[in-house]
Amino acid sequence: MEKRKLDTKRAMRMPWGTVLAVACVTIFVLLQFWGVSREPAGSEDKGPNGVWAVVSLVFLVYLYRGRPLARQWARAFAVFGALAFAFVAYALFELGVRTGLAMLIPMLSIVCMIAIFFGLGTRASRRFFDLYCEACPSYRVRARDLMFRRIQCKECKREWQYGQGGIDVSAFD
Ligand SMILES: [Zn+2]
Repeated sequence: MEKRKLDTKRAMRMPWGTVLAVACVTIFVLLQFWGVSREPAGSEDKGPNGVWAVVSLVFLVYLYRGRPLARQWARAFAVFGALAFAFVAYALFELGVRTGLAMLIPMLSIVCMIAIFFGLGTRASRRFFDLYCEACPSYRVRARDLMFRRIQCKECKREWQYGQGGIDVSAFD
């Protein structure tokens, strides 16, 4: 119950850049499910693609809940995705496709990827994901574990846990 309350509060103070980025990720997740639903029942790809769709949905939930690890992966994915769609657009251009829906989809996807990258890169977004030291104050922080649950300020070495708004956790060690 306490956790749910925290998440609602968190979602309400989501900055617009983050809202935009999360909306773009949501579109991609929905497209994945749409793609899977369109595949014929006997298709070999249906299983693996279904798994990927579910994985992307879980990822979206973590992003929505402000997990720093999800933010990091989303930005990496956006860079990779923008390059991949740029390659697709270039290939289409070379094939003589200059206009129409075939060209619009990769172009919109690139815009979406750029929105994800920069939308999650703002200072407000960093605060949303608890990547901000309130004591200094500083945005120079690093992960203290592999899952990015614990965050440390590079300036004052203070540590806190994600989702706790910069509450010091070193006292609980
Ligand atoms: Zn600090």
